[in-house]
Amino acid sequence: MSEKSCLFCRIIAGEIPGDFAHQDERCVVLRDINPQAPMHMLVIPREHLESLDDASQKDEALLGHLLRVGARVANDQGQAEGGYRTVINNGEGAGQSVFHLHVHVLAGRQMNWPPG
Ligand code: AMP
Ligand code: ZN
Repeated sequence: MSEKSCLFCRIIAGEIPGDFAHQDERCVVLRDINPQAPMHMLVIPREHLESLDDASQKDEALLGHLLRVGARVANDQGQAEGGYRTVINNGEGAGQSVFHLHVHVLAGRQMNWPPG
């Protein structure tokens, strides 16, 4: 998918409204439109990468940043003590539906294992 038609690129560019919880120079945090837990955020790099599989060695610092921002957001929302889960769906078979890399951060309910 090209960046022009990518949903998350369009939200980051301000062409489509998004409910932002945090923004910095490398990523944004969006409240998921269809939350699967009381807190469900998406940590999204500003740069368009289709998936985790699309990331290369040059993206290692960015990947680390996304996870650290996810942790910070969970803590800021008071969710660290109860536990939170970070998820990256890679590919349709794993449930990826938006092909712009993002980290789900879910909290506020008991999480099950194995995941569905
Ligand atoms: P995935 O299925 O892992 O690609 O995750 C995509 C996520 O984006 C889903 O949890 C959707 O609910 C969420 N989503 C889709 N459209 C929007 C939107 N306009 N604003 C916020 N979240 C969205
Ligand atoms: Zn994109």
